[in-house]
Amino acid sequence: MQLNDKSLLESRAFIAGEWRTCDKTFDVTNPATGEVIAKVADCSVENVKQAIDAAYDAQKDWAKKTGKERSIILRKWNDLIVAAADDLATILCAEMGKPLPEAKGEVLYGASFIEWFAEEAKRVYGDTIPGHQQDKRIVVLKQPIGVVGSITPWNFPNAMIARKVAPALAVGCAFVARPAELTPLSALAMAVLAERAGIPKGIFNVLPNSDASAAGQELCANPKVAKITFTGSTRVGQILMRQCANGIKKMSLELGGNAPFIVFDDADLDAAIEGAMIAKYRNNGQTCVCANRIYVQDAVYDVFAEKLAQAVKTLKPGNGMDEGVNCGPLINEAAVTKVETHLKDATDKGAKVLTGGSRLSGTLFEPTVLIDVPSSALVSTEETFGPIAPLIRFKTEDEVIAMANDSEFGLAGYFYSEGLKRVWRVAEALETGMVGVNTGLISTEVAPFGGVKQSGLGREGSKYGIDDFLEIKYICMGGI
Ligand code: ADP
Repeated sequence: MQLNDKSLLESRAFIAGEWRTCDKTFDVTNPATGEVIAKVADCSVENVKQAIDAAYDAQKDWAKKTGKERSIILRKWNDLIVAAADDLATILCAEMGKPLPEAKGEVLYGASFIEWFAEEAKRVYGDTIPGHQQDKRIVVLKQPIGVVGSITPWNFPNAMIARKVAPALAVGCAFVARPAELTPLSALAMAVLAERAGIPKGIFNVLPNSDASAAGQELCANPKVAKITFTGSTRVGQILMRQCANGIKKMSLELGGNAPFIVFDDADLDAAIEGAMIAKYRNNGQTCVCANRIYVQDAVYDVFAEKLAQAVKTLKPGNGMDEGVNCGPLINEAAVTKVETHLKDATDKGAKVLTGGSRLSGTLFEPTVLIDVPSSALVSTEETFGPIAPLIRFKTEDEVIAMANDSEFGLAGYFYSEGLKRVWRVAEALETGMVGVNTGLISTEVAPFGGVKQSGLGREGSKYGIDDFLEIKYICMGGI
């Protein structure tokens, strides 16, 4: 791996402000080549406990600092990340596979949360409420919740952690991160820079670990952890929620999606193609807000399908490190199997492949467009997490809203229409936490990201994202 600053490639755990080796290690491989790029310290449950203890002890002083003091340190962390963005992107591309420019985009997107919450650190306002009796005064304080345990997935190895750690640290919490076992290197590189930025020992811990279940159990059961923040599947979200029940722990859950992408016949079709390309093929279809089911109204179905296939044929799949590649490999063999299963199920049920449709080499899969997909196909009911665009035909607005909402998920939804009344009607009717109207890209640090139904609890980003790391305390003063 070509890095300007080789010290960013760290394979030890970061616990209590110290770099530690563990008895065991596990391999991190490059999905584009299958090559082992690092042997990473494999943290035990004992290590998780040590990190929680350190976080618990350090948090008190961190919370006592002024918002401005924390803000200055977070700002420095942001600046160091931005300055090292090329190296961080190289590490991210190597462990996760997304093309280098997209990897750099993720690093800068992650940093934008640290910058945003560095600013917000100074604005954690409370309230005064007129008293209910003449001699009473009421004040509302917002206080940091305490130690936060975090479990994150491999599809955004940097940004999923940045989105959580930034608001947590901004308000005075301490953070114990357990990154995905497939992609711990980006998290460790962030810790290298956190240390350089002056984040105090114990406030940010990174625990690479191959046994997610054991680490998760400890984070959920340990009484010193006040809150769990998780991004990943609904299945694991449910497990964590059960595990947190005993301690009544607060939770933020950003879970699976099955985003509908609707193209009405009054849409600007070229804009809809551009949006569909971003919403479907970004990160090779491996994001929870990726368009999973594409509904196209009857009158524009054929022309939309043709235009989309043309656009998809211009994509260049390959090793994300290579110039011009804009579609990387899928993360692993299991991901290819899922894509192949969904594809076969759709074609068995009558769908036709307009372009793509097969594996190229390794875990590299051709960007694919399917037409005549029935709404009973797996591609329209389950998250595919791969580069397949299934086009489903619909006739009326009511019909498509019913199909879009017929899902246990409710993360993102997208639609294209030039009609003002329809825009309001459909935006209000979609049962999702986020709606993209005439755009395929909705993620930004300034807006609240999150889902409804089984897509999760809580929001990340924006002023709303900070509330998830705060407790409200009301003080009633009498005898005045
Ligand atoms: P994905 O399909 O995105 O990998 P998962 O929910 O399986 O979604 O994984 C998200 C994160 O949760 C990963 O870091 C994974 O290691 C972790 N994980 C998986 N199973 C468990 C579990 N039982 N307890 C805690 N964390 C888990």
